[in-house]
Amino acid sequence: MVRFNPKARLDRSRVRDVGRGGGGGAGGAGGPGMRIPIPGGIGTKGGIGGVILAVLVYVLVSCLNNGGGGLGGGLGAAGGALSPSRLGDAQDTGRYDSCETGEDANNSQDCARVAIENSLTDFWESRNLADWRPEQALITFSGSVATQCGNATSAVGPFYCPADETIYYDTTFYDQVLEDQLGGPDGGFVEFYVLAHEYGHHISNIIGTMSKVRSQETGPQSPGVRLELQADCFAGMWTRHADGTSDESGEPLLAEPVPESDIALAIDAAEAVGDDRIQQKTQGHVNEESWTHGSAEQRRTWFMRGYEEGTLEACDTFSADRV
Ligand SMILES: [Zn+2]
Repeated sequence: MVRFNPKARLDRSRVRDVGRGGGGGAGGAGGPGMRIPIPGGIGTKGGIGGVILAVLVYVLVSCLNNGGGGLGGGLGAAGGALSPSRLGDAQDTGRYDSCETGEDANNSQDCARVAIENSLTDFWESRNLADWRPEQALITFSGSVATQCGNATSAVGPFYCPADETIYYDTTFYDQVLEDQLGGPDGGFVEFYVLAHEYGHHISNIIGTMSKVRSQETGPQSPGVRLELQADCFAGMWTRHADGTSDESGEPLLAEPVPESDIALAIDAAEAVGDDRIQQKTQGHVNEESWTHGSAEQRRTWFMRGYEEGTLEACDTFSADRV
């Protein structure tokens, strides 16, 4: 389990919780509903079908929000959507108000989320990227939320919306999906890996690789898969260097490097959401041509490449002959 430096000060300025039905009560939030095509034959109630549905939706949304033309027609056309700051200001439930120090992060997964966001921001800030800016917000919700990429329900896992540069997620995703139903690794660092992956999408947005994904083309070498593998690679970069990140006054955020056991959890999680694993579970067979995120092996490989090599160049999935 990651341990935070008890003396570190947390910056809550970008982390908000909008609670149940976030966005719905603020007026005018009735944007276009998300219409996400679900492969046939997958149940929507409980069981493994429900799990996979949630994972798939998570997987799909990450791709859908790349500005690639709005698969399903609804996304990216949310004219008049609330800005993240207005949304957050209007509806912040105060969930994170008590998160002040690294000690709080050691005692609460909510506060740990804030600490990880701070660590990701500090890490990427130190890379001196042209056009660097932190994500607009990390917003947690339950039920549903209005975003500039359309409305999302809690069935949707974590996603990054480039239109408002915000990471959204329902925190019950980790308990219900990854842990309880997939029998996956227990909470903790799994969430941080996913957060680092979504932050990776923000980095791809900043450096311009996200704009290389212009079609809905799928398959193991497709631009969409390359973008996803880049996010995994970026997550690996941060994981390796997380212990070097610090708060505003230079106090380290983590008490120690990310432990090997947590790195193993991250890799397990990356593999668990590999397209081949999901297809095997839902369809009983694997169809490479419809891959959107890459196989378990691809995801593990690119996470580890980021972890071991630690450079943007090493994560240039778009220049690689094969990924
Ligand atoms: Zn993704």
